[in-house]
Amino acid sequence: MTARIIDGKALATDIRNGLVARVAALNAAGHRPGLAVILVGDDPASAVYVRNKGLACEQVGIASWIDRLPGDVAEVALLARIGQLNADPDVHGILVQTPLPKHLASARILESIAFEKDVDGLHATNAGLTLMGTPYFRSCTPYGVMKMLESINATVAGRHAVVLGRSNMVGKPMAMLLLAANATVTIAHSKTRDLDSHTRAADILVAAVGRRNLVTQDMVKPDSIVIDVGTNRSPEGKLTGDVDFENVKTVAGWISPVPGGVGPMTIAMLLTNTVEAAERRAEIETH
Ligand code: NAP
Repeated sequence: MTARIIDGKALATDIRNGLVARVAALNAAGHRPGLAVILVGDDPASAVYVRNKGLACEQVGIASWIDRLPGDVAEVALLARIGQLNADPDVHGILVQTPLPKHLASARILESIAFEKDVDGLHATNAGLTLMGTPYFRSCTPYGVMKMLESINATVAGRHAVVLGRSNMVGKPMAMLLLAANATVTIAHSKTRDLDSHTRAADILVAAVGRRNLVTQDMVKPDSIVIDVGTNRSPEGKLTGDVDFENVKTVAGWISPVPGGVGPMTIAMLLTNTVEAAERRAEIETH
């Protein structure tokens, strides 16, 4: 058996195409969705992510601004900049690219973004609303994974979903969205004992760890759905996920590749959240 592929790239393209019409409708009513991205320092990977987000915005008609701040920027200056963006009516979404330099308190900075503009879905209010099952903005990567499950008409309700990783950005919100969709959810992490026994029981397995080949063929339940969030580099510099794709695909029913899986979906959902923020703002202004 060979698993069917969940093509995140194609699905992301569909989602982005769908946004073009929503942006056109906003434009026709005199609104242009806008995303402000703050990049602190000169980390090359972060610079690439930010550039890609800007290009993606451009393709669907979202205005984007990249604020490049020096790596030694004072926290008070960064907070002041976020304050200006919070107050700017042309800015519907604000994203601070992580990781931030060590002298900056990431949590304090994320909390300083108005939650109505937190299109990354990482503000405590958005995390809390997701926890309560009434999300306002969903964290982009887990949101993208849910869309991938939807795209293959996966039955989530009543299924056993296992999430590897418990970060605030991916693992925890992922588990909450699966729970809201009525899965029975297990969250595994670095202290989990006998990881294989958990993964082998998973109808839906989401790997969000950041360790190449962590998930091997023998760890996967036959015919299950395997979604690979991880992004790692092989010794040859090739982008890989957390899942041993070539071998796991002989067991799983569905599998998402890296690259071309979750990555493009994360950006598509960031754009979706930004358009939604602009639609909400337009709605408020017209009433
Ligand atoms: P993170 O904050 O480093 O969290 C990693 C999680 O994995 C932690 O909860 C950690 O457990 C857990 N873990 C570590 N070793 C483990 C093991 N052997 N077994 C089970 N769990 C283990 O990373 P993240 O931000 O969640 O990202 C995870 C991965 O997804 C990374 O590769 C990242 O690059 C990738 N990512 C991709 C996208 C995308 O768009 N494709 C978006 C976001 C992230 P503890 O909590 O116990 O330390």
